Formats: sequence, structure tokens, C-alpha cells
Amino acid sequence: MANKHYEVIVIGGGISGAALFYELAKYTDVKSIALLEKYDALSTLNSNGTSNSQTIHCGDIETNYTVEKAKSVKRTAKMVEKYCLQYGYENKFMFAHQKMAIGVGDDEVNYMRKRHEDFKELFPYLEIFEKEKLKEIEPKLIFDEHGNERPEKILGVGVEGGQWSTVDFGKMSESLVENAQKVENTITDVFFNAQVTSIKQIGKKHELVAGGETYTADFVVVNAGAHSLYLAHRMGHGTNYGCLPMAGSFYVTTKKILNGKVYMVQHPKLPFAALHGDPDILLNGFTRFGPTALALPKLERYHGNSTVIDFIRTLRFDANIAKIFKDLLVDSDIRSYILRNFMFEVPYINKRLFVKDARKIVPSLQLEDIEYADGFGGVRPQVLDKENQKLMLGEASVNPGTGIIFNMTPSPGATSCLGNAERDTKLVCEHLGKVFDHEKFCKDLVD
Ligand SMILES: Cc1cc2nc3c(=O)[nH]c(=O)nc-3n(C[C@H](O)[C@H](O)[C@H](O)COP(=O)(O)OP(=O)(O)OC[C@H]3O[C@@H](n4cnc5c(N)ncnc54)[C@H](O)[C@@H]3O)c2cc1C
Repeated sequence: MANKHYEVIVIGGGISGAALFYELAKYTDVKSIALLEKYDALSTLNSNGTSNSQTIHCGDIETNYTVEKAKSVKRTAKMVEKYCLQYGYENKFMFAHQKMAIGVGDDEVNYMRKRHEDFKELFPYLEIFEKEKLKEIEPKLIFDEHGNERPEKILGVGVEGGQWSTVDFGKMSESLVENAQKVENTITDVFFNAQVTSIKQIGKKHELVAGGETYTADFVVVNAGAHSLYLAHRMGHGTNYGCLPMAGSFYVTTKKILNGKVYMVQHPKLPFAALHGDPDILLNGFTRFGPTALALPKLERYHGNSTVIDFIRTLRFDANIAKIFKDLLVDSDIRSYILRNFMFEVPYINKRLFVKDARKIVPSLQLEDIEYADGFGGVRPQVLDKENQKLMLGEASVNPGTGIIFNMTPSPGATSCLGNAERDTKLVCEHLGKVFDHEKFCKDLVD
């Protein structure tokens, strides 16, 4: 059988791959695009609605973002909103919930007031919620199990409604692929059960083997989550990076406890977002607390141990990686954070410890109110930068300039899917001499 040739092949049918597939079809003159997905459906891993917190992270309540970072994520977060509104997906898989970040105790309350000052120009809709207002709009933040008010000072900064806050990114991936395939005069093929096992550069093209078939492409973009770096290393690219998969688990409540999203002030030393409570759009709005942060020696969760070897190869353990781990472990705050997050996975102790932490948000929370959410929570492919001996917190790309790009997209990668795809669409078009109708793109998704 003849090889299947495409101008562009996208590897990975999560939200990143789906967004790029859509943008290439809708806004460029690329004539043939294929999406190769390892499993039998789109977004079965990290982009699934059960794997992440379903939050459009635009920077208004994420206290670990600086104003600069918030500015850049706000632009890409708006693209998600605009895409969904363009097709009428609001209240289907995009929802507007009340949302806020809370400060508890004198220091955090002062911090939140200052943060409001710093961020109000960028997010003019943000309001300060004093204790009396919180009693009305999010009463579980205030009262303990005996109906007494919590003794500490508390302050919320957020918005009661009117801002799109929540998306089922799994459903959004499906819509992106469906809408790409509606574009006329462009070949938009999707192949499931097509795990890419080898990529070779042959002249200016790439030859890929996936699911027993051979494909060739003028340009390849690898959006395979933690496996992106694995595939890059196999081609000899990105060897200055290692990957540390950080799993995030959740606890669900047996009823609706919070009316909206409640985030907490980030401990400045800790690398991952502080625990938060979110109404789960797949569980009737019951509150989901999490995520935890646990280093996991495999690239995919809930798929047996088949990716343990892939993890070992992708970590590329050496003296630089050892130094990164040593620097993390030397700090007592980070050490106890790692230990505590490990304990959140140990049966019996886990729930008891977790409920204590979650009581900082809901003081009345009881052991019987929460359950470990089995099968929930994905893996964040955190990148270890060997040259600078640092754990990178955001996204990373490896672009050798030879017509292939490898993307690693930990949180907030789902929010930035259309923005990342915009960047890659530009690169693909520059390389292939194709036209990206950026004006139309901006009209639809930015302006
Ligand atoms: C606990 C947790 C909470 C999070 N919360 C949020 C949030 O609230 N908001 C937000 O914006 N982001 C959040 N994120 C991050 C977000 O989920 C990810 O950034 C996003 O889902 C990444 O999408 P992706 O398409 O790059 O990767 P994935 O969703 O992992 O998709 C990769 C795809 O590639 C496929 N694949 C892998 N290897 C191959 C191969 N060899 N051949 C073919 N296909 C392959 C996989 O099967 C998969 O379908 C969270 C992540 C976690 C873990």
C-alpha cells in the first residue's frame, strides 16, 4: 500500500492537537492534514473532563500568576471563550460560575487586598468580598460544623457571575476536530489506534510509523503530552530536557458544597497551584477539591505500568537532574509538601489528611463529605531544564527548525490550546510557504 502523505501531521488527539488541527484547517491554505491518536477516541488522557480542573485559567483568581503572566494567559483564555461562543457551546460545555480567590488570616487578607489593587486594571470586574458578603454568596467559607463563624479574617476577590470560567476540554476537543472536518476542500483525516512508534527525517520530509501504517509529512507537530519529549529524545532532539510527570488527584464531595470556584493564596515557594474547590460540570456541580501533586514514575495514569520504561527514558537521569531533585528536597517547605502529597494517596490516612487541608476553604467539611475521586486526575508533564538545573513550571517546546515541533503542555495547557496552536500555525506556514489568515483568526478569536 502507498504511504499516506500529508502536508502536516499532528500527533496526539488531546486539546492541543485538536486546536492545531482546527486552526490549520480553518485559517490556512494547508490542503492536507492528518491527526494521529494512540487511543480509540480523542482526549482520553489529560484533556478529559475528569483529568483536569476544567478551569479557564485567565489569571484573575490564580494567585501564582504575576500581572505579566496574567496578561498573556488572558489573551489565550479569551480565545477559548470566543471559540465556544462562536459555535454556541455556552451552557453546553462552557459555563460561567461564580469564582474567587480567598485570603485567610491577616497576612493573606492583606496580600489579597494588594493583589486586587495590582490586578484591577487588567480585570476590572474583580470585586472585593468582605466576610459579610461571603456569608451571602459562599456561606460554607465562613461557618464551621456548629454554625459558628470561623475566627480568622477572610477576604475574597472575584466575581459573582458573568465570566466564562469552566470548560469540559474533552468535549471541546471533539468539537474542534468536528469543525475542522467541516472545512471544504481540505483533507482532514483522523486516525485512531495510531500510536506513533517511529519518526524519521528523510530529506525535507518526515516518515512516521503508527498503528502498522507508514505516513509521510512535510511538517509534523507532536502534541503527545508527556510522550512528546519521549519522541523528541528518540530523534535526538530536546536532550537538554527531562520530564517529571506530576500526577494530580482529586477528592469529590457527595453534594454541592460550594456555589462556585474557590482558589487559595499560593505559597510562593511551592511549585504547583494551591488546593482549590470547583463545581464539577460532569458531576451535577458537586464540589471537587484538588489537585494534589505527586511525582509518578510513568507518563500516563490508569494505563497499567506500560509507560514506566518510557518515563525512565524521558527522565534522562544524570547529575543535572540529581541536582534539581536535591535543590527541591533541601528546602523543608518543599520536602514536607512532597511528603504530604504522597500521603494523600495512601489509603486511610489520605482522606483524613486531605480533609484537614480542605477545611481551610470549608471549615465545616467532615470526613464523610468527601471521597477520593477514583480514576480522576491526569499527569502534568513538568519539564526539567538540565542546562539551568531547574524545574520549569510552564510549557516547553522543542523546535529544531527542521519541520518538526514537540510540545509539552502542563497546566494551564488546556486554556492556552488555541494560543499555542496560533504560534505553531505561524511556524508551520512560514516553513511551508503557506498562508495563515491571521486577520480572520484575530477577528474570530482575539478582537
Ligand atoms: C490535575 C490537573 C489539573 C489541570 N487543570 C487544568 C485546568 O483547570 N485548566 C487548564 O487549562 N489546564 C489544566 N491542566 C492542564 C491540562 O489538562 C493540559 O495542559 C492539557 O490537557 C494538555 O493537553 P495536550 O493535548 O497537550 O495533552 P494530552 O491531553 O495529554 O493529549 C495527548 C494525546 O497524545 C496522545 N499520544 C501520546 N503518545 C502518542 C503517540 N505516540 N502517538 C499518537 N498519539 C499519542 C495521547 O493518547 C493523548 O490523546 C490540568 C492538568 C492536570 C493533570
